[in-house]
Amino acid sequence: MADLKKIPAKGEIIFKNDARIETYRRDAVISGNPDAVVRPRDWQEVADIASWCNGNAVPLTVCGARTSMTGSSVAESGVLLTTDNFNKVLDIGTKEGGPYAVVEPGIIAKDFQRAASEKGFHYPVVPTSCDNAFIGGTVSTNATGEDFYKYGPTRSFVREISFIKADGTTGTLERGDRNVPLAEKGHGGYFTSGEEIDKLIGSEGTLAIIKSVTLELLPKIPDTFIILAPFTSAIEALKFIDNTNKNRWNPRAIEYIDPIAISLMKTYPACPNFSDTIKAFVYIKDESFDGKIDALIGKWAERLPAQTLNEAIIATTEKQKEELHQLRHQIPQAISELNEKLQKQGGAKVSGDWWVPKDKMLETMVKVYEEVAPLKIDFTMYAHLGDGHPHTTFICKTHEELARAKKLIKYQAERAVQLGGGVAGEHGIGKIKRDLMQIQYGKDKIAEMKKIKSNYDPKWILGQGNIFKKT
Ligand SMILES: Cc1cc2nc3c(=O)[nH]c(=O)nc-3n(C[C@H](O)[C@H](O)[C@H](O)COP(=O)(O)OP(=O)(O)OC[C@H]3O[C@@H](n4cnc5c(N)ncnc54)[C@H](O)[C@@H]3O)c2cc1C
Repeated sequence: MADLKKIPAKGEIIFKNDARIETYRRDAVISGNPDAVVRPRDWQEVADIASWCNGNAVPLTVCGARTSMTGSSVAESGVLLTTDNFNKVLDIGTKEGGPYAVVEPGIIAKDFQRAASEKGFHYPVVPTSCDNAFIGGTVSTNATGEDFYKYGPTRSFVREISFIKADGTTGTLERGDRNVPLAEKGHGGYFTSGEEIDKLIGSEGTLAIIKSVTLELLPKIPDTFIILAPFTSAIEALKFIDNTNKNRWNPRAIEYIDPIAISLMKTYPACPNFSDTIKAFVYIKDESFDGKIDALIGKWAERLPAQTLNEAIIATTEKQKEELHQLRHQIPQAISELNEKLQKQGGAKVSGDWWVPKDKMLETMVKVYEEVAPLKIDFTMYAHLGDGHPHTTFICKTHEELARAKKLIKYQAERAVQLGGGVAGEHGIGKIKRDLMQIQYGKDKIAEMKKIKSNYDPKWILGQGNIFKKT
């Protein structure tokens, strides 16, 4: 590899033998091995670094907050470029198309949401990891959060992207047609049936470095509330979600929390005490633009099972909603922490990110529980069941458990595709899920995607190891 001491970095640079590099080696699931980490302070520096890496065939991985669940923000080797110095809202306001904001990629999603709300606007699409994840990371993974149910994925809100290519040249792509149906969950790989800008959204740092993004905002902040509704069995909770879909009650979000997920939630210090009869929760978020949230809460209360209603938690103030958000966030957070411990002991978590169409949700999830039981491995299923998109997670203590869990997840991903869903609803493919590409796509489609990659990045230096290998 070229002498990295010659890299044209003006800002901080951390080399391999420096203990500070440890912070940058991991995402939420795996460790990498960068030779150097650069923290550029301006975009010219980014362009110069990219051009130098390209000229010297040095792998260049861009990262945001490194909360990826697939290893996508981890550098296997070469240079890791951080974007945390680029965290400004460049513009926010209203023009012909409605409210919008132009932001740099390093702004934390929650901070951006707050900035939009201070101006009276609303940005609904943030992942559960929004306290850490950067907007650049959310665009590069086409992140979805709980509000996908009503508002769709990040893709639906991206209007324009300015970027720097691997060779250091810059470009801008704008969405032309506002009516493209983009409200689907991801499938992994490049989105080839939209406009050129769609290829960049969800491309996991493999096509270009995002320099700024223009995001559409919603005009008014609605009154929202969350109900954490208890159920005495997992199946009753799943049936309630299915009914919500069938009856088109159309909340802003509806999610599922199963028995093991409840036990993980209970590791949150401020978790309320629930009775032992509670075996599952449905997390309902809804909103009102006319201030009549009491009536709406009443409607949901009528739909929910009467016998456990007294244990429901209803959050209407910002503080209460934030507490419930933290409680819900504790589930993946606890799994990530558990994963680090398990990896040191030879095990790991294995997660599925597949999804099925809403009308296939109930029958599929019943089958999932049936298939998992004989494995006798700790297992949890939670999150976006309203969208047919569970986070299925096996907590494996040994390599042998890992192998069995992976086999079942692969089978379930294949079934999801056969049912009309996808293998990678929101986390992307990264480095640990490349085998899923063959499940989702035929050879020709993968070849088409590799051609796109070669057009943007002929030497394949960006995000090396993400989505697919060159050969
Ligand atoms: C506890 C927890 C909860 C989560 N919940 C959700 C959820 O609800 N929904 C969801 O979708 N995901 C979720 N995730 C996954 C992750 O948080 C999201 O994918 C998030 O969007 C990643 O943002 P990030 O800033 O951490 O990006 P990183 O992890 O740093 O990077 C992710 C990808 O984006 C690329 N990238 C980052 N910045 C740029 C840039 N400027 N230009 C080009 N490429 C770039 C990287 O190369 C990488 O491929 C969760 C993760 C954790 C740990």
